[in-house]
Amino acid sequence: MVVSSARLMKKASREGYAIPAFNIDNLESAIAVSEVIHEMRLPVIVQMIPRTLNYGGIAMYPAMMRELMADCPVDYALHLDHGNSLALAQKCIASGFSSVMFDGSAMSFEDNVRLTKEVTDYALPMDVSVEGELGTIGGKEEGDTDLEATYTKVSEATEFIRRTNVSTLAIGVGTAHGVYKGEPKINVQRIKEIHEAIPTPLVLHGASGLSDEVVRACIEAGISKINFATELRQAYTNGIKAEFAKDPEVFDPKIYMRGAIDEIKKVLRAKINICYGINE
Ligand SMILES: [Zn+2]
Repeated sequence: MVVSSARLMKKASREGYAIPAFNIDNLESAIAVSEVIHEMRLPVIVQMIPRTLNYGGIAMYPAMMRELMADCPVDYALHLDHGNSLALAQKCIASGFSSVMFDGSAMSFEDNVRLTKEVTDYALPMDVSVEGELGTIGGKEEGDTDLEATYTKVSEATEFIRRTNVSTLAIGVGTAHGVYKGEPKINVQRIKEIHEAIPTPLVLHGASGLSDEVVRACIEAGISKINFATELRQAYTNGIKAEFAKDPEVFDPKIYMRGAIDEIKKVLRAKINICYGINE
């Protein structure tokens, strides 16, 4: 059943694990996620960024997941990742999303509050949870940036939650999107401080490339949702490359795409084990 992200995350927060959130791109990544949910029987969040929705069509992704999950009783959430407008959130909700993010982290604090609140005012009465973002999650050039300035401040997080009523909050603690250049420095202490100050479930973006130990430390400190995107896309592409290396003459996508699906599934299983604290 499709449920809100916040519902899954509140339970995770109480019980000391995190819900893995997987960015899908197309039918093949949706099949990979669905097959792993069927196999492991644990809730996950399936999410799409606006560029993905432009690629496949907003209504396509919930439709694919509904079809693939029709026979499976495990709860999951359908989430808009890095949404950038109320209009997009509304379209997603109309298509069956159970959760939306509004990312106003690049705006001033006041604009972020105002526009995020527009989304919560619209979505929360429909039992759709809203993820806000405060602080900076890297992703472009790593220069001599002032790290402290990128971290989410406890006082700002408290005020942001009070004024926007967001269901969940993505925080900046030193992670970055995409591929890390050099060893990332994650401020686990700051996660702990924010978690102790506010009851709102916290989200970690940019977890591809973090060691399993760092991810576990973040969960122990109070993170209840972890986003994985880059590593899934890398696995997908590596799977296709391996199929062509095995047989350069292969021309049926159903054959070489199976290689991509199986590679993604390996990463999905590993991330689910880390997030749920399952030791193999
Ligand atoms: Zn992100």
